[in-house]
Amino acid sequence: MTRIIPIKTGTIRIRPHHRAGDKTKALWRRRLDILTDRDWTEPLPIYTYLIEHDEGLILLDCGETARAGFFPWWHPFFRFNVDLNIEPGDEIGPQLRARGIDPRRDLKALVLSHLHHDHADGLEHFRGTEIVVSDENYRASQGLAGTIRGAVPGQWPSWFDPIRKQFDGPAVAGFEGSIPLTDDGSVLAVPTPGHMAGHLSVVVRTPDVTWFLAGDATYDQDLLLRRVVDGPAEDVTVSLATMDRIAGLAAQEPTVLLPAHDPDAERRLDDRAVLTPAAAE
Ligand SMILES: [Zn+2]
Repeated sequence: MTRIIPIKTGTIRIRPHHRAGDKTKALWRRRLDILTDRDWTEPLPIYTYLIEHDEGLILLDCGETARAGFFPWWHPFFRFNVDLNIEPGDEIGPQLRARGIDPRRDLKALVLSHLHHDHADGLEHFRGTEIVVSDENYRASQGLAGTIRGAVPGQWPSWFDPIRKQFDGPAVAGFEGSIPLTDDGSVLAVPTPGHMAGHLSVVVRTPDVTWFLAGDATYDQDLLLRRVVDGPAEDVTVSLATMDRIAGLAAQEPTVLLPAHDPDAERRLDDRAVLTPAAAE
């Protein structure tokens, strides 16, 4: 039987203008809004999701690191606009080991929604594991440009050489392609760009419900229902189209939405509370 296990790798506080951007403004204006915002959100969870499937264990994202001095000192975003709270025991490696899972040996794959810091900084725990990322996101995360976008390529382990995929599998609902992650077709990645180029989400279909592991395609369900994009979203139009596709999937099959930073995600998972776009009216 397929099971989804949320594993929280600490918390992050961000600026309210980061959590919810003004979609009428250009990216540089939304970035400026974040830099000049003096308020903080509540501490938001940094979730990874472990998928227990008959074909093996698949992990989506590897969370944040507790290491000090990890981020480039010159980057105003890392320096002033994220407040991370991660203890060494919160990192994904120790948490998997506490469950009897060796992150280097026991996973079928680690899949990365995108390479932003709070989704990929736990990479060091996964040497020897097959790691899957979209080719487009891998390319977007390289070098100085990738660092300005919120990845930390300077800290990637020297052995990091992920399998870079195109979405050349079958279309799924409104998503034009996919990356199959299991042979039985029940677990697959779909393209959900907008927040970042090449961003992916993972769809897990079970007989009674579809789990939609959204990464940062939306920060939480309420924002998706209100069609509010995040402040650093690289492309507002594309981000809104992604959110509409997720809502479209939920209109076709009972779908539980599980983003990476949604404080209500674990409750919805426990209750199997499906996404009902009409409830927003
Ligand atoms: Zn992100």
